[in-house]
Amino acid sequence: MNEIKIKTHGRVNLIGEHTDYNGGWVLPTSISQSTEIKIKKRSDDLITIRSSANRSHQYQLGQEAPKKTWSDYLEGVTFLLLKEKYKLQGMDLEIHSTIPEGSGLSSSAALEIGVLKGINEMFQLNLSINDIAKLGQRVENEFVGARVGIMDQMAVSYCQPNTALFLDTQNLSSEMIDLADLKFDLVIINSGIKHQLSAENGYNQRRRECEEACRLLNIPSLRLLHHKPLNFDSLPLVLKKRVGHVYSENQRVHSAIEAIRKKDLKELGALLYKSHSSLSIDYQVSIPEIDFLVDEFKNYPQIYGGRMTGGGFGGSVIALTEKGEGKNIADKIISKYWAKFNTQATIINY
Ligand code: ADP
Ligand code: MG
Repeated sequence: MNEIKIKTHGRVNLIGEHTDYNGGWVLPTSISQSTEIKIKKRSDDLITIRSSANRSHQYQLGQEAPKKTWSDYLEGVTFLLLKEKYKLQGMDLEIHSTIPEGSGLSSSAALEIGVLKGINEMFQLNLSINDIAKLGQRVENEFVGARVGIMDQMAVSYCQPNTALFLDTQNLSSEMIDLADLKFDLVIINSGIKHQLSAENGYNQRRRECEEACRLLNIPSLRLLHHKPLNFDSLPLVLKKRVGHVYSENQRVHSAIEAIRKKDLKELGALLYKSHSSLSIDYQVSIPEIDFLVDEFKNYPQIYGGRMTGGGFGGSVIALTEKGEGKNIADKIISKYWAKFNTQATIINY
């Protein structure tokens, strides 16, 4: 095969935030925005890449090195495949994406998973879907320098519209949760403020804090708290807050599954609001613009609940509304947001 086309979709996480690198549970679903990748085989060892916003880059296979820019997500893929002794040759890559970047909707995973899928097919590498997801995570962890968990790569690989992926990130077992029978609108608003997960920043710092808490509690992972409640009151205050979030968020994911099964949208919405408070107050990964959007939701009785989604420090928010109400309310909130912050927020199609 000399030419391959692959399409991947972004994802939005309904609940279960900052649990994935702690061996916990998450509940993402797919969004309609996507990344399309065309790959053409070359007869030499050159990789050429063109992506939207006039970005282009080229390098020789085997000469990969992180440059702290967008091309790391691609150089990281061939770097790891070569490190794992897979045989590759040169390629021309053309990328076109409608997923806003740095908005908590997984443009990075859509890119690296799409490229990995395409290369897997083109060079018949026989990688499984889970192998591809794990390699995608390693691209971010080992090459880009973003210590992300496995949620985004699994979500991009498995999520379908109208279904949520109830994923156990410890053993990658999962269940598809049907959302089609629930009568709601899922509103997704991109705040227009980009985060930077790859920089040495709050995200990696949160990971270190969780690791430090595990060290002090003498447990391998915060997942353990779900099975064997431990008193973590003796931790330093900041770590106590971080652990409190992870512990309660894992419980909320399970409660959310129950609420979906009971078709109890009020309960599901209340869980989203609680998740947001926990992320904002205890995990401290929200920003004033995002808190404003979630506070605005509370003015509308037609909204069951909402929260920030994705890693935080900017990005997007979600709200569950009564069926048929979402667009109208989102437009009003976006106007108010513009008036306050002079920043354009946009609706993302679910
Ligand atoms: P998110 O995954 O939430 O969108 P990240 O910070 O994890 O945010 O990833 C965004 C980064 O991924 C961008 O800044 C860019 O470097 C890279 N990226 C994503 N999509 C593309 C694309 N279509 N073309 C080039 N680089 C991309
Ligand atoms: Mg990302």
